Amino acid sequence: MGRIIKLNEQLSNKIAAGEVVERPASVVKELVENAVDAGSSRIRVDVFEGGLSSIRVMDDGEGILEEDREAAFFRHATSKIKTDRDLFRIGTLGFRGEALPSIASVAEVTLTTSGDGRTGEKIIVKGGQVKTRTSAPPRKGTEIIVEDLFFNTPARLKYLKTIHTELGHISDILNRMALARPDIAFELYNEGRTMLKTSGRNDLLQVLYSIYGKTAAGEMKVLKASSADFQIKGYAASPSEVRSSRSYMTMILNGRYIKNHALVKAVLSGYNTLLPIGKFPIVCLHISLNPQLVDVNVHPSKMEVRLSKEKALQELVTETVRNVWRNEQLIPSMQEPK
Ligand code: ADP
Ligand code: MG
Repeated sequence: MGRIIKLNEQLSNKIAAGEVVERPASVVKELVENAVDAGSSRIRVDVFEGGLSSIRVMDDGEGILEEDREAAFFRHATSKIKTDRDLFRIGTLGFRGEALPSIASVAEVTLTTSGDGRTGEKIIVKGGQVKTRTSAPPRKGTEIIVEDLFFNTPARLKYLKTIHTELGHISDILNRMALARPDIAFELYNEGRTMLKTSGRNDLLQVLYSIYGKTAAGEMKVLKASSADFQIKGYAASPSEVRSSRSYMTMILNGRYIKNHALVKAVLSGYNTLLPIGKFPIVCLHISLNPQLVDVNVHPSKMEVRLSKEKALQELVTETVRNVWRNEQLIPSMQEPK
């Protein structure tokens, strides 16, 4: 008898959860991504106690078909890709089929959905096990409630910071997702209090206003450029509106909020010497490119990507930002006689 055994699904889900569900904000991120992928036009998030006692995400998307409802909680089960070719042209935010099984392995998940708009169903899964399946009134879209997060992983629970800090992470991720999709109306409530509300009218500047306020966002300049491979659109705040952290710079790639040091650096070089040391601008940049030029399959959180033409993109970004300040005559133009 060998010594190696194949772990059961429940245990392997819990292991995956270690990477996918780092904190309440990761749950919010995954659930909102699913709502976006379901083609929703309105997404509402309610959290209590920094997401630790409960997180609820409601959408008006396509819902989940009856025959898919249990499979949605299986690991590596997804409606978003089928073949390995699909993996290299990802057009959705999700594709790993890991979020729901991971979340349900470390929390209690109540899923209420209707795929056909005629019959609804409520499914409760806790610690990886389906507890109940009951019929529910039909509704448009899906509602997912996550309670008792990390009830069976005490070490993870202990590692979490204060409610205030966890709430900050949730608010940050929702702000970024709203910036990524100005065409979707997002709402975030903490203990019933409004933290974010966007119109969904596809106006990026309006979303920037609602997050950073009119004074900061009021002075923003348009960024717009394209090359054979990339299209860039966005806004950059005036160098007089600086902040002490890089976190006011948001990079969106094909509708996905990403963390990318090279692009942040490219934006900063575009400001040239206009920024005081240790100060950073408010910028939101939307980059569109052929999905075949991006590898999203780098990390379970899908926030890191590999770009095959990163250098060219970096140059285009720097040039686009620099041109704005040249046109404002804050940076001397190279053509000007000395
Ligand atoms: P992935 O998003 O990578 O496919 P998930 O575990 O996040 O994996 O979700 C599994 C599946 O459940 C999705 O592929 C999708 O078909 C379905 N699903 C999850 N959430 C929603 C939702 N809010 N609306 C419609 N379908 C959903
Ligand atoms: Mg998903």
